Amino acid sequence: MSWMSRGACRQADPELFFPIAEVSGPAARQFEAAKAVCGPCAVRANCLSYALEAMPEGIWGGTTVDERRAARRRPSRRQASAQPREAVSRAMTGEDATCAGRAAGSPVPPGEAA
Ligand code: SF4
Repeated sequence: MSWMSRGACRQADPELFFPIAEVSGPAARQFEAAKAVCGPCAVRANCLSYALEAMPEGIWGGTTVDERRAARRRPSRRQASAQPREAVSRAMTGEDATCAGRAAGSPVPPGEAA
C-alpha cells in the first residue's frame, strides 16, 4: 500500500509499535515514543483510518488499541459508520486520508511494505 511506504515509522524500530503491555513503566514509555513518531507522520490519517478497521494490536496512527476501541464505541463513530472511515480518521487527527489503505488481510507492522 503506497501510504505505508511513506510512514515515519519506517525509520524506527518496529518493536516500538508493539509493546507487550499498555499500563505503566517501560511499556508506557514505549507507547509515548511510538506516538512521538506518529505525531508528525505525513500519512497518519491514512494509517488511523486503516487501523480503525483492521488492526487489533499495536500503535497505528498515533493511537493505542484501547484508544481505537474507545473511538469505535463513541456515538460519533457509530453515527459515522455510514460515512467513509476516512471521516472518522479526520475527526481524530485533523488530517485528510488521501487513500483508503490496503484491503484487510494479513497484518503488516507499521512502516513495513505491504
Ligand atoms: S504507525 Fe502509522 S502514523 Fe505512526 S508513523 Fe507509522 S505510518 Fe505513520
